[in-house]
Amino acid sequence: MNIQKKMKTLNQAIDAWQREYKEQGGRLFCGRGCSNCCTLYVRITGVEALHIAGQLTPEQSGKLKLHVDKMKLHAGGSASMTDFLHRARFKVGPCPFLDPDGACGIYQCRPFACRGMLSTRPAEWCGADFSLLHPLEKEAYRSGLDREVVAWPTHYVEATQYMAEAQEGDVVAWMTESWGFRLVGSLGYLVWLVRESEAMSDLSDMAGAAEFFAEKGREFPYLLTLDRGC
Ligand code: SF4
Repeated sequence: MNIQKKMKTLNQAIDAWQREYKEQGGRLFCGRGCSNCCTLYVRITGVEALHIAGQLTPEQSGKLKLHVDKMKLHAGGSASMTDFLHRARFKVGPCPFLDPDGACGIYQCRPFACRGMLSTRPAEWCGADFSLLHPLEKEAYRSGLDREVVAWPTHYVEATQYMAEAQEGDVVAWMTESWGFRLVGSLGYLVWLVRESEAMSDLSDMAGAAEFFAEKGREFPYLLTLDRGC
């Protein structure tokens, strides 16, 4: 699996979409240092986790450990996936790979999901806690969205998210074929586990790797899913 090639293909498709959207008068608000969406839960595949795990600096690894400890704490104490997603965003804090200046610290190998997120609203909306908004504010927000463009009821572009999901789908199919299982999970946790797993270090024992991740998935089902695809 040439993950870099797939990331390049996705970038080209997203660039083309953005060019056309802007030519038609559309406006996007994403840029370097604008990082409010980096508090959202990011789902990645095992292949992306392997790619990212191989690129981390010692400082990023240290931040990752702290992040994973907090994620596990809140995943274990959450009453539902919805509860967990809210805690992950507002109690765990931003992505461990976010640099202090608000730039992505793993920009070249960032996940498909991050590449597909384009905002049609200014950054403050990407960091808003909608559970705290007055119903009238929510209504005003929703009525201002372009339903032809966004993944309703969010203000993020739908087409580019589909493009990212299509690449992710190819990777998931490849995992099933080559590894014998599908592995997806939270960005921080999956990168951490891939580094911890001896079986993933040389991909020589995929049955052992499947057992390792299945056990972790049973322990923290909100953070990881392993599916043997049969
Ligand atoms: S990987 Fe980069 S773009 Fe994605 S959430 Fe983390 S800091 Fe943000």
